[in-house]
Amino acid sequence: MFRKKNTAGVNSDEIRAILDEKKAKMKLSLKACAHCSLCAESCFLFMGHNKDPKYMPSYKFLNSVGVLYKKKGNVDKQDLGEMRDLVWERCVLCTRCYCPIGIDIPDMLALARRICRSQGVYPQYDRE
Ligand code: SF4
Ligand code: SF4
Repeated sequence: MFRKKNTAGVNSDEIRAILDEKKAKMKLSLKACAHCSLCAESCFLFMGHNKDPKYMPSYKFLNSVGVLYKKKGNVDKQDLGEMRDLVWERCVLCTRCYCPIGIDIPDMLALARRICRSQGVYPQYDRE
């Protein structure tokens, strides 16, 4: 359903600048993902949550960095809040996920965390 965006408090230029730092790797990863789900079983959080697709490494990657890239950083606090839940609550950056074609999912999820943090969106426990 259409939702009117409230972009107050979000600096899209800053998001784009951070995305640009990893543009080549990010673009290649997004293009290369074959949606094969082979990374899923290497994630203990996926296995520990009854194989809920929302815990699949590729799901987390495509719905965080993938969205930021597709929307060219034009997201609002609600979008970022949803990403925060994905990349912190459903991932611990343990780096155990394995993609046979070499997509570095933890690096992409760390990038999404960095972008959320740059906009003041992160879990309470992550405050420095
Ligand atoms: S990240 Fe790799 S293993 Fe996971 S769905 Fe994409 S191509 Fe398959
Ligand atoms: S880095 Fe995140 S997605 Fe990858 S295996 Fe660990 S918890 Fe799962």
